[in-house]
Amino acid sequence: MSDFVNSLMAEVKAKNPSEPEFHQAVQEVAESLSLVLERHPEYSSAKILERIIEPERVLMFRAPWLDDQGNVQVNRGFRIEMNSAIGPYKGGLRFHPSVNLGILKFLAFEQVFKNSLTTLPMGGGKGGSDFNPKGKSDNEVMRFCQSFMTELARHIGPNTDIPAGDIGVGGREIGFLFGQYKRLRNEFTGVLTGKGINWGGSLIRPEATGYGAVYFAAEMLGTRNETLEGKTCLVSGSGNVSQYTTEKILELGGKVVTLSDSSGYIYDEEGITKEKLNFVMELKNIRRGRIKEYAEKYKSAVYTSLMETSLDHNPIWDHPAACAFPSATENEINRDDARNLINNGVYVVSEGANMPTTAEGVKIFLDKGILYGPGKAANAGGVAVSGLEMVQNSMRLPWTREEVDNRLQHIMKSIHRTCVETAERFETPGNYVNGANIGGFLKVADAMLDLGVV
Ligand code: NDP
Repeated sequence: MSDFVNSLMAEVKAKNPSEPEFHQAVQEVAESLSLVLERHPEYSSAKILERIIEPERVLMFRAPWLDDQGNVQVNRGFRIEMNSAIGPYKGGLRFHPSVNLGILKFLAFEQVFKNSLTTLPMGGGKGGSDFNPKGKSDNEVMRFCQSFMTELARHIGPNTDIPAGDIGVGGREIGFLFGQYKRLRNEFTGVLTGKGINWGGSLIRPEATGYGAVYFAAEMLGTRNETLEGKTCLVSGSGNVSQYTTEKILELGGKVVTLSDSSGYIYDEEGITKEKLNFVMELKNIRRGRIKEYAEKYKSAVYTSLMETSLDHNPIWDHPAACAFPSATENEINRDDARNLINNGVYVVSEGANMPTTAEGVKIFLDKGILYGPGKAANAGGVAVSGLEMVQNSMRLPWTREEVDNRLQHIMKSIHRTCVETAERFETPGNYVNGANIGGFLKVADAMLDLGVV
């Protein structure tokens, strides 16, 4: 590690204690940027990176609500408004018991670079709550969302900060949040993205993150004159990103053999067909059941519970395959998993989730020279189509499915090109981590220089 990264990280850790995910995200970016700061002293003297690390604003608030038994429940709400140099704050809301300040700061930090890469004018933000939607009735989820939005509404707006979904926040939650915002403000605006199609949503938004991660993998394979046709793929998670990743892999002729949730995973050697995927969508989006039921219905699949094991690795990554699409959560691939993936023949990793690979895992991928697309590039399709939803809301004119999908494909190609060209320009060809970090940084940094010390 360079002296610059060492001293920066010492300060980041001292100022932001107990936020390991935030430290991890900052360190990865700082290591990539060492190359840039040597060539561009103007960024160092204006303390651009030091300013990007400091959120412009952090909001933390109480979100009390009544459960179905009439008991008072208290959750904590957050919004991190990280950087608005190139556009209004934009980024999802996560509802999960593991949510805390450090996790949201890491996500907001990543979002700044990701949004910059999309070519659209969006700053970075992230928010959420430690509220757990799992096991709650629709009415409880609604009451929580209304309480959460009652406070959040005073801080956001269609030209200020535009939240979207993330883990635990899908169409149902966005509906309740939008309904409450509209009621409080008495205005119908594009203040949230991921809205329903009848009330301002964009076609392809639900599909966008998963489709985008697959388009990115296809672009990476294209650099070796290969396609996804006939390739076996490991997908983790079974939520929004995983479902549409699987759908697009099938469309492009690949075979998906795994899916998971936080309780365990299924391995279906015969492959997950369109019909089986429809079952998963109904299971997860409507019945809100567990992935275990897949193996009860389809005998070609084996279910492995992760609750009963004390393994130091994740067995989902220990199956023969060519491609992996981690699409559940952060740090789901550690050093041993990265080794297992490579030993099983995986040479394409396209991250649908945010920071799903630990720093040690990333190092193994880079040392082995595989096609490794980091989340801030590979999963940018979701926020890109959120940006397109904002454009349609401003015009009050919806685009067709084809129009949005074409734009999404175009954006993913452009992000891929930026990563490849930037990595080459900074003498690390094929390193998509440097390509994404530097490519995302330059636009934000130049805007910050133009805007003065603010
Ligand atoms: P969903 O809530 O729809 O699905 C999340 C999936 O991951 C579920 O299967 C869930 O299982 C599993 N999961 C969540 N937390 C854990 C955990 N701690 N351990 C193991 N499994 C877990 O979320 P999304 O699909 O929207 O998000 C998945 C990832 O993609 C996240 O990293 C998110 O930040 C990222 N992302 C999402 C975007 C979007 O547009 N939605 C955009 C860009 C990135 P269970 O049901 O048991 O909780």
